[in-house]
Amino acid sequence: MSQPKNRTELLQALEAMTPRSGERWQQAQSVLPGGLSSGARIFEPYPFYTQRADGGYIWDIDGNRYIDCCMSYGALLLGHRAPFIIEALQGQLERSTIYGTPHELEIAFAEKFVQCAPCADKVLLCNSGTEATMQGIRVARAFTGKDKIAKFECGFHGWHDYAMWSSTITPELMGPEDRPELVPDSAGIPNAVRETMLLLPFNEHAFELIRENADELAGVIIEPVIGEGTHPLEKTFLEELRQVTKANDVMLIFDEVITGFRLALGGAQEHYGVIPDIATYGKTIGGGMPVGAVGGPNEIIDKVTQSEPHISVAGTYSGNPMTLAAGNAMLGYLIENPGFYEELNTKGDQIRTEFNAFAQEKDLPGTMAGVGSMFQTHIQPPPVTRPRQALDQDQEALRDFQLYLRFNGVFIPRVHLGIVSPAHSQKDVDAIIEVHQRSLEACIAAQKNA
Ligand code: PMP
Repeated sequence: MSQPKNRTELLQALEAMTPRSGERWQQAQSVLPGGLSSGARIFEPYPFYTQRADGGYIWDIDGNRYIDCCMSYGALLLGHRAPFIIEALQGQLERSTIYGTPHELEIAFAEKFVQCAPCADKVLLCNSGTEATMQGIRVARAFTGKDKIAKFECGFHGWHDYAMWSSTITPELMGPEDRPELVPDSAGIPNAVRETMLLLPFNEHAFELIRENADELAGVIIEPVIGEGTHPLEKTFLEELRQVTKANDVMLIFDEVITGFRLALGGAQEHYGVIPDIATYGKTIGGGMPVGAVGGPNEIIDKVTQSEPHISVAGTYSGNPMTLAAGNAMLGYLIENPGFYEELNTKGDQIRTEFNAFAQEKDLPGTMAGVGSMFQTHIQPPPVTRPRQALDQDQEALRDFQLYLRFNGVFIPRVHLGIVSPAHSQKDVDAIIEVHQRSLEACIAAQKNA
């Protein structure tokens, strides 16, 4: 397929592919803010409107089929419509969508969850990763009796007031590397929250800051693979973080909303062999339904939920039977299929290895980072191991790269990493690699034709 020569042609080609989506996009402007229900779903020239999705594919209302490497931002570990999950949901539909009373699926799900999550004897259930990190932070404050929470630059932990600080960075505002500047990611966050936050860099200065603030610091929250699954951290860094937090009575919280049950059955904890005090979960564990969870040991969870004053464990939809029907079926499947992760992660390894070899062989500025089923392309030479390094890439070429992927039939959202799933056949994996290679060449050529 011949490639559009520059961005103008590329945008025209995408518009020509998606006229009905273009009409819906106009219509949506009058009733949804910016036309969207989640800001992350914006892309150029406008988002496509989805008709349906199945396995590893997603179709738009104009009839275009894309290989889906978004996988609903990581919510789908197995791809769309895994038959046994559909069956579990259909079975639950026959018994009602929600009860507002305890039910047996809560126990079945929780037993499987604590069997797999290394840090957990008990699990608190909620409805999204955002709720999970909010609750995890509250657990840390209640347990330690301290107020401050430290997060790392570029760590994303959802969209509540304690999470939306410096999760994206700009060279103008980010401050020095060793002492990064705390910058709110949203309007409407009270400035008073700033006093309860500490921003950490991804180097040894983080450990100094933790020690300096230990008297006030309740917890440190970290994505073990930073930037929603983009940059894997070194095991030694996480080991030292574990050691420093423990020595200073600061709770270590792993945000495993992306990595939990994705990187391994025991998530990043199993992958790195580092066990935090508590961990937050979401996405994967709901089998495609809205979910969040905080897992922790008895001595922490019992203390904060049973002794006075205790934290509130609540929520109309928490532990709802539709979510837990899907989640319970999924965890059961993962437990019964021990070869699952090796097979899945091999696909990710193949995508990264072949893309990186291609970029090197053709002497093109391309690096694919990530780990397991998660991959992220940077339009720059290796190594790219930290979010600040990724700021150096050619942002215009990156923008075009993402458009070329979609033009060539692979869907990865503008602001997110790519994800491969067991629903992608070997033929799909080969196509993902080939489209990434072709799009890299095309976006570099487009810069010359701009
Ligand atoms: N933590 C991490 C690491 C995430 O990637 C996300 C979402 N991308 C969240 C928390 C928030 O999860 P949710 O969108 O379910 O609220």
